[in-house]
Amino acid sequence: MAPAHHAAGQEPPDAVKKLAADPGATSIVTDFDGTLALVVADPEAVWAIDGVVDSLAAAARSFRRTAVVSGRPASFLLSRLTGTDGQIPAGVSLAGLYGMELVEGDTVTVHPDALTWVPEVDKVVAAAEAGAPPGVGIERKGLSVTLHVRTVPHEAHWAETFAEAHARLSGLVVHPGRMSWELRPPVDVDKGTTVDDIIAGSTAACFMGDDIGDLPAFDALDRFAAAGGHAVRIAVDSAEAPRQLMKRADVVADGPAAAVDLLAWLAQAGAAAAS
Ligand SMILES: [Mg+2]
Repeated sequence: MAPAHHAAGQEPPDAVKKLAADPGATSIVTDFDGTLALVVADPEAVWAIDGVVDSLAAAARSFRRTAVVSGRPASFLLSRLTGTDGQIPAGVSLAGLYGMELVEGDTVTVHPDALTWVPEVDKVVAAAEAGAPPGVGIERKGLSVTLHVRTVPHEAHWAETFAEAHARLSGLVVHPGRMSWELRPPVDVDKGTTVDDIIAGSTAACFMGDDIGDLPAFDALDRFAAAGGHAVRIAVDSAEAPRQLMKRADVVADGPAAAVDLLAWLAQAGAAAAS
């Protein structure tokens, strides 16, 4: 079935409205970059769109689970999703590095198997810093490393070749993304397993994402739907949006502004339904 489309300011599609019917049994899960934040040339210059933290805080007050699942390190998410009081909103769960880092309250739990790969990641970072052509961004994420070619797209072949060669040398695994290649530990954790854990016990759930790394989260929603849950796969559109993700979507949001609009709508409708 063709996905429903949503633009900011429009009434949400019916599948989204249904998520607010029983917020106490519903999980709202979302990616960060390209979904709640605009993608820009410098990955360090990415910030949440205005209102996101307030919407997450409001959603967490009525929904069973409200969670952000990102490929960024937990430290980055903590720096971008704190409220004006300097705290992560109560009840909002953060999963960094696809779930290799889990934040609940003040506690960050790191997957123990991933930690053993830090020396290999450091070696790849050193090799990339020594050998990358000018303009290739090297994002050191602790348990993983991402090579960005957004400002130098003609270096994509270099980045892909480097990533594949160093995956063979190190045992790390290559994951392509929007204008990027990432090397991650071969640990059995991705956005799919992380979303499985978050939405367990819910009767309805959604995930919003914009990139290849979000496909496993859609897989998790497929499993959830097969078990009888109301699942809403929301893909955030852009000029770089992977077709595989768009094809799997129940709802296509017209850019991060539309995704943030859906989150705000859910937060408000969830509060109304819960009261
Ligand atoms: Mg993203």
